[in-house]
Amino acid sequence: MFIGGEWMNASGSQTRTITDPANGETLGTVPETTDQDVDLAVKAARRAFDDTNWGSTDNAATRAQLMRDLAAKLREVAPEFAKLDTQNCGKPLIEAEGDVADAANCLDFYAGLATSTMGQTASVPMNMQSMVLREPIGVAAQIVPWNYPLLMAVWKIAPALAAGCTVVIKPSELTPLTVLELAKLAQEVGLPAGVLNVVTGVGEVAGVALTNHPDIDKIAFTGGTDTGSKIMAAAAKGIKNVTLELGGKNPAIVFADANLNQAIEWIAFAGFANQGEVCSAGSRILVERSIYDQVVERVKIIAQNIKIGHGLAQDVRMGPVVSKEHYDKVMGYIQKAKEENCRLVCGGSHPAGAQFANGHFIEPTIFADVTPAHTLFREEVFGPVMSFTPFDTEEEAVRLANDTEYGLAAGVFTEHIGKAHRVVKQIKAGIIWVNCYHPTFNELPWGGYKKSGIGRELGKYGMEAYLETKQVNINLDQSELGWY
Ligand code: NDP
Repeated sequence: MFIGGEWMNASGSQTRTITDPANGETLGTVPETTDQDVDLAVKAARRAFDDTNWGSTDNAATRAQLMRDLAAKLREVAPEFAKLDTQNCGKPLIEAEGDVADAANCLDFYAGLATSTMGQTASVPMNMQSMVLREPIGVAAQIVPWNYPLLMAVWKIAPALAAGCTVVIKPSELTPLTVLELAKLAQEVGLPAGVLNVVTGVGEVAGVALTNHPDIDKIAFTGGTDTGSKIMAAAAKGIKNVTLELGGKNPAIVFADANLNQAIEWIAFAGFANQGEVCSAGSRILVERSIYDQVVERVKIIAQNIKIGHGLAQDVRMGPVVSKEHYDKVMGYIQKAKEENCRLVCGGSHPAGAQFANGHFIEPTIFADVTPAHTLFREEVFGPVMSFTPFDTEEEAVRLANDTEYGLAAGVFTEHIGKAHRVVKQIKAGIIWVNCYHPTFNELPWGGYKKSGIGRELGKYGMEAYLETKQVNINLDQSELGWY
């Protein structure tokens, strides 16, 4: 763990073995954090916030420079980081390379914002000069999942540091390696002790201790909706500021007037990128009936030709899912879809072959004729499983798209600009793609409606999440109050 600028083992001396989900090989061991260790980490972050000038406006330019240095360091060693994320969570190397580049760009983006925090002045009566000041919230607890180990961490660390907060971050118990490596780089560039602390370990211990700690001012969480609910309860107890980035069951609507050659590939990418282990995965594909069979067939052909394998192997576009436990969960959803008589179009099994024997691989899987009554239409699988549903009218497409408790992302495929705008406005989701799926930018807000979360990451919105707002009224009048 990295606490107060020092590398240390857990006080209980217990460790956890971290493995490669493609072959079961051991990648390393990390400490199993105890409540006591979390307390140490929070205290270190508290001291760095309260007793140093880290968060002061005087220090904003230094914060920005440190973040740029960290981004530059990360770029220098990008291939090693990409390899490590691939080995740790299973994603294809080409995706991990993109994640590392995005993470470095994210640090640079927020370095730019570190020196541009602006308050406001207001015109008010009573000869007052009124102002709104923005100040860092304080110590942030950040909890991130396993599907984008480095990128999800940087999405949280970068705005927090830019705002002047200090951080205790807990990566997923399964994928702590690149976050620990990032802390090494932070140490190398000279980030002051206690500004960034990393505790490894399980959510039920380290995560609970962190979110319940009285010295935490803000909790930022990305993960499942059920965990998000627990985190919110912990935040409620301490009246802590909280942002939540949770799950999704995201629709992509394909109208008959779409450019199908273009749409087909994006749809496959929507559902199968990162093995479908993406909160914004397009897992519910709604297709206008006149082109339904054709679309299902063409996406099936792509799915059957996706190269599966160890993420480091040449041309692989789908690796294993992250763990045996998650493999069983995804396979359970496939089994349930079969039992509920969804039509299996392709996949649905562990791929055959010796190279897959020791890994948690699942074939790209498509079910057709899925209706809102089916579990597959409602629950987030978080694996390479897509469902297809036909519709007849624009109104029905929108109704089906919104027929979910989630509201993270959606896609719309049409060549009709008016229809695209109409549908975009009616879909209740925080991110919508038109004639594409998945591209996202550090400059723009990321987050969900409904049970997909509270608040936004990225862009200036992500920075807001780490800033307090202070009202200041300065009396310019020389007269006495005359109240008593
Ligand atoms: P989990 O909710 O299981 O875990 C997320 C993190 O929370 C992990 O670090 C976990 O620790 C920790 N945790 C678990 N229980 C608690 C607790 N009681 N208190 C505090 N922390 C806890 O999610 P997964 O890791 O399984 O990730 C998949 C989920 O993340 C999906 O639902 C997905 O949609 C969502 N997600 C959302 C994104 C978004 O931007 N909206 C982006 C990426 C993923 P541990 O690993 O030890 O269990």
